[in-house]
Amino acid sequence: MNKTKPIGRNLVLYTLLIVFLAVLLVVITKTGEPSEGSTSFSTAPPEDNQPVLGSSDAPVTVYEFGDFKCPACKVWNDQVFPGLKKEYIDTGKVKLVFINVLFHGEESKLASLAAESVFAQNEDAYWDFHKAIYDAQPQSDHDSAWVTTELMVDLAQRTSSAINPEQLEQDIINQTVLPHIQEDEALVKQYKVEKTPTIMVEDIQMVDPFDYEEMASLIEKKLSGDKK
Ligand code: CA
Repeated sequence: MNKTKPIGRNLVLYTLLIVFLAVLLVVITKTGEPSEGSTSFSTAPPEDNQPVLGSSDAPVTVYEFGDFKCPACKVWNDQVFPGLKKEYIDTGKVKLVFINVLFHGEESKLASLAAESVFAQNEDAYWDFHKAIYDAQPQSDHDSAWVTTELMVDLAQRTSSAINPEQLEQDIINQTVLPHIQEDEALVKQYKVEKTPTIMVEDIQMVDPFDYEEMASLIEKKLSGDKK
């Protein structure tokens, strides 16, 4: 009779300990989350072979998984990107990496081939061309076919004198830069990108790419983390 009492007491103590540890685990997990709904990956995407806007020394990298054929991506570039550029990229705090997503089929692929070909010819010409493609996207009826090799070559000529149009046309037709497109497609799978644009701040994937305050808050957290 006497021996059962300490065992009962131990059982209560062990149960309390397990409950305490379980609660602690939940609290730690919650605190570790960047914000409600955001997805945290173990690493940020690699930047190799990708166009980078901003200082290469910038301590924080923001990634845009975008599709030139996607209307929401055009809106993001028109409405969210300018603030990011002014506040963080131009000040050397952030660099932006663009990764192609081909959710809209052949035209997405054609525009991506053109952009990667321009990047391969002259890295400095890339971002003006990138903007020119979004600017060329029709405001309405964007489902209509508007991405053509002719338009891509024309846009490149209009945005940079450094681009050889014949070379660009051949690169698009021959799909010279296809391996880079395939690298991007692999990243789209690896980072479980399901919608465009998808924005990542380092290793954290945002739920709402249009929530500028949230993006700024994630950037600030990464910036203060870097300073240690
Ligand atoms: Ca790429």
